[in-house]
Amino acid sequence: MKKVLILEDEVSIRSFVVINLRRAGYEAIEAGTGMEALERLREHPDIGVAILDIMLPDIDGFEVCRNIRATNKVIGIIMLTARTQEMDKVTGLMTGADDYVTKPFSPAELTARIDALYRRIGGDVNSDSEVLSQGPFVLNTRNRTLEKEGQRIKLTQVEYAIMKLFMQNPGRALSREDILTSVWGRDYDGELKIVDVNIRRLRIKIENDTANPTFITTVWGFGYKWGA
Ligand code: CA
Repeated sequence: MKKVLILEDEVSIRSFVVINLRRAGYEAIEAGTGMEALERLREHPDIGVAILDIMLPDIDGFEVCRNIRATNKVIGIIMLTARTQEMDKVTGLMTGADDYVTKPFSPAELTARIDALYRRIGGDVNSDSEVLSQGPFVLNTRNRTLEKEGQRIKLTQVEYAIMKLFMQNPGRALSREDILTSVWGRDYDGELKIVDVNIRRLRIKIENDTANPTFITTVWGFGYKWGA
């Protein structure tokens, strides 16, 4: 059974999520503190998606996210953010989260996001090995790895999906909507801004000069273009 970690200190919210995860066919692993969440992840290395609340009694959700990402690039991470904390979304994505859900959220919304992340994690597993080599970059779709000049660049699932989309469409201007649909899925109802935040993070990882990006260029008022 697919495992999902839910880190939330408010018992009522956590129980609500657990009930809905089970109903959607997931095994729910619960944690009420940041430290507990990291412990659960060590006990269950097969957890595919982690849902992290931000305000917690010990270390905050961003810290938990950074901790997870330091050793695990593959797991899907969804941050639970409060309605008013607009900046949380951006901070969460910059610390390595793949997605965020704003409280209060509907069970359908949350499970749709989890399903989408799980699809992305498992999506390429059975596809034929394919290596895309462009300029200094080599993308291996079997190992889901990216190298630049022979150096491995660590990517989150979302960043990998964007890189794959770019490298399959070299020299083609892709609209932000195209990227959103291709990477997050057709059912995703989040904001286009999530595309920009992820592109910003990718540029930090792959560009020679982040201030003057040459690989991922901006197509003003439209989207982005890949060239290497
Ligand atoms: Ca909380």
